[in-house]
Amino acid sequence: MKISWRTIVLWSLPALVIGFFIWQGAFAQTAVNMGNNAARTRMSYGRFLDYLQADRVTSVDLYDGGRTAIVEAVDELNNQVERLRVDLPANSPDLISRLREANINFDSHPPRSEGAVWGLLGNLIFPILLIVGLFFLFRRSSNVPGGPGQAMNFGKSKARFSMEAKTGVLFDDVAGVDEAKEELQEVVTFLKKPERFTAVGARIPKGVLLVGPPGTGKTLLAKAIAGEAGVPFFSISGSEFVEMFVGVGASRVRDLFKKAKENAPCIIFIDEIDAVGRQRGAGIGGGNDEREQTLNQLLTEMDGFEGNSGIIIIAATNRPDVLDSALLRPGRFDRQVTVDSPDIKGRLSILNVHARDKKLSNEISLDAIARRTPGFTGADLANLLNEAAILTARRRKEAITMREIDDAVDRVVAGMEGTPLMDGKSKRLIAYHEVGHAIVGTLVKEHDPVQKVTLVPRGQARGLTWFMPNEEQGLISRSQILARITGALGGRAAEKVIFGDAEVTTGAGNDLQQVTGMARQMVTRYGMSDLGPMSLETQQSEVFLGRDLMTRSEYSDEIASRIDAQVRTIVEHCYEDACQMMRDHRVVIDRLVDLLIEKETIDGDEFRQIVAEYTDVPEKERYVPVI
Ligand code: ADP
Ligand code: MG
Ligand code: ZN
Repeated sequence: MKISWRTIVLWSLPALVIGFFIWQGAFAQTAVNMGNNAARTRMSYGRFLDYLQADRVTSVDLYDGGRTAIVEAVDELNNQVERLRVDLPANSPDLISRLREANINFDSHPPRSEGAVWGLLGNLIFPILLIVGLFFLFRRSSNVPGGPGQAMNFGKSKARFSMEAKTGVLFDDVAGVDEAKEELQEVVTFLKKPERFTAVGARIPKGVLLVGPPGTGKTLLAKAIAGEAGVPFFSISGSEFVEMFVGVGASRVRDLFKKAKENAPCIIFIDEIDAVGRQRGAGIGGGNDEREQTLNQLLTEMDGFEGNSGIIIIAATNRPDVLDSALLRPGRFDRQVTVDSPDIKGRLSILNVHARDKKLSNEISLDAIARRTPGFTGADLANLLNEAAILTARRRKEAITMREIDDAVDRVVAGMEGTPLMDGKSKRLIAYHEVGHAIVGTLVKEHDPVQKVTLVPRGQARGLTWFMPNEEQGLISRSQILARITGALGGRAAEKVIFGDAEVTTGAGNDLQQVTGMARQMVTRYGMSDLGPMSLETQQSEVFLGRDLMTRSEYSDEIASRIDAQVRTIVEHCYEDACQMMRDHRVVIDRLVDLLIEKETIDGDEFRQIVAEYTDVPEKERYVPVI
């Protein structure tokens, strides 16, 4: 390597900066050290005042503009004269008069002038060196064509995409998304052995769109493709294209593709492509010009390179519905790969991947964790194991046990644990509320079994009843929904039956929201009411401004009021059922509440056992709500 003197100047800059500070520090020190040959020991200001009071101080020399003093004093213990350093507070104006009163010999020493000269020089030399250094920095880089030399050129100077030569991620690191992996395996082959396809005249696809909810491993999959194929990985997030300055986004796209072409074969990964790729012309006021320019540039670039140049663009989104149709045309993102939330098997294999580097105790069954975590994505599971590991370290245990896992699940699902309430009326009410949920959950046949009831608050909730989700029910029956509605109303029902109408609380707000939501969906989406098998509402999604704003509901006012009536019937019926259960089982409820207040948590088995003592209906023949 050729070392030019410019390089030396550049590399010596940091050293100079550090040197400068040490130097400055040294100056401040020498000013004090002068004339205090023996004063290495420090005395606190308070002790100094005590000494002053006790008449033990013989002389005081002030340095540093009155901020430091070298004090000669007679030591308390051995009565020897000592020289001590005292740091004075910035504001000690009456010190001089006290010294004079006590008739103590004192003097003030200005900083030596040579020190000042050196200090001044030091202060000047540093900026000069900096300016010289910067000057060379700019000179040097402007020799590189297209480099960051044209510093004021927006978009050019800040390449906001990142490049990883080797991602180090392999398909083995991504679990639970086997279909997606299979599809993408082919992309790896495109990158590794393009001739196999071009020989028979096949056109290699340019773009792959990964569609799926956040945290399911889209970014990870894209990296794994690059890792498996051994090609560089360029990535940028859609939101980074869209900036305040007009033209920046478009020029970033140009830059990105230019760099990628230089490094082909490679992967370009565009995360959150919906940020740029939304339908053009949408949005209030005609849309965002800048975004449209960026999108146009992206389309142009995608058309601009030959299909077989070894660049494959992978984009990720969780909202394919808002994408501009031009993006989805053949020749652009013509392949869509769905990356869905994992099922129980998927969760188990994801847990296996992330358990590789964790210390788990032998009793842990990943299978049980997978069963407890329906709806968790890969990112949630990774987070879960990490939380458990942190808890284990905090509890100073050797390996993660099931207790940490349970606590971590609770924490990921319901938030941080709070401190339990003091015993009192409101704790009693919460206990009744939770037991209300749990007892309905136990008495109603189709309801998921109770896992535990607890009065330990978490997140927003003051008490919680956990149910064991009945594994992987892709389909839910009408009586299951009714069971859930009844269970969710159990809390309020208990409040009302035990404490009376006047005492019911806001604690049921969340429950009621869920209840209404479920009942409404029964009527409007699943055709589970007297209105018949009709879909009256599409899935509630965020209004995409400019497109959906104007669409109207698909039913008449008359139907609307019939929907409301149906929803009301369902909810009222279930509520009445729940209240009846509270009245019928008052004795066992009271006992469970006492136990809950005493223990704070009752687990599902114990709960069921106690309930079984008081009811002679066997579990299989329990209540089924009918409307
Ligand atoms: P997305 O891009 O879909 O939002 P990421 O790929 O960024 O999700 O996932 C975040 C993290 O979650 C990953 O780094 C990984 O640790 C974990 N993860 C997500 N999905 C999976 C999976 N299918 N297998 C293994 N780990 C996963
Ligand atoms: Mg991502
Ligand atoms: Zn509740």
